[in-house]
Amino acid sequence: MPRASVVVVGGGPVGMTVATLLAQYGVSCAVVERHHRPYPMPRAVHLDGAAVRVLQQLGLAAEFAAISRPAAGLRLLDARLRPFVVVDRDVSPGPQGHPEANLFDQPELEALLRANLSRYLEVTVRGGTVVTGVEPDGDAAVVTVRDATTGAVEQWPAQAVLGCDGAESTVRSAIGAHLDDLGFFPDAPARDQRRPRQAGPPRRAHRAVDRPPRAR
Ligand SMILES: Cc1cc2nc3c(=O)[nH]c(=O)nc-3n(C[C@H](O)[C@H](O)[C@H](O)COP(=O)(O)OP(=O)(O)OC[C@H]3O[C@@H](n4cnc5c(N)ncnc54)[C@H](O)[C@@H]3O)c2cc1C
Repeated sequence: MPRASVVVVGGGPVGMTVATLLAQYGVSCAVVERHHRPYPMPRAVHLDGAAVRVLQQLGLAAEFAAISRPAAGLRLLDARLRPFVVVDRDVSPGPQGHPEANLFDQPELEALLRANLSRYLEVTVRGGTVVTGVEPDGDAAVVTVRDATTGAVEQWPAQAVLGCDGAESTVRSAIGAHLDDLGFFPDAPARDQRRPRQAGPPRRAHRAVDRPPRAR
């Protein structure tokens, strides 16, 4: 059992980021993650300047610049490839000190976050481990974890538990929190296309989605 003040449930971008920030303040924490490696499928492709500023705070500004490129904006295209949302962005640094739109590959960013986190002795990352419950214990909490391979169950005390376990959050259910589903429309396949990082004018990101029925 890791001796940690804070248990971070979920080792996605949010969990890895908050664990690094805690470590920078000298707070010990244990990150519990179901998988051993970052989820390999593409998801996020865009971060704004404020998010890059957080990466800068983690010490990753140069590393992120190497795996990303500024973008001149975004166009959302409908099923007939007609733009229905157009967002223009300046590629030079904005108020946050970074370009306002930055294109990247989420698995590459997650690998960076993990590698960076390994520099901090305050943090233990326990992969292949699933949180199955969180119970209050006075002013603190007890987190129940299960080893995904052996099935062994342990109970970890924690002064605080951070639910960074994504959309289907176990922590949210465990603490009785409520999710307002805003009915995000497309149940559509997503496909990213990788282009060589050649020099040249910054490009705009294009995302083809069908419009929500109410917006047609
Ligand atoms: C197609 C698509 C496009 C997107 N585009 C963008 C974009 O352009 N820009 C943007 O900012 N965002 C975008 N997003 C959203 C972005 O991918 C998510 O916001 C981001 O991954 C959320 O990070 P997270 O760390 O909160 O959660 P997640 O990435 O979901 O990570 C949660 C982690 O918790 C782990 N976990 C879950 N339950 C447990 C448990 N009980 N025990 C242990 N571990 C557990 C999971 O294995 C996972 O690794 C997109 C998403 C999709 C699907």
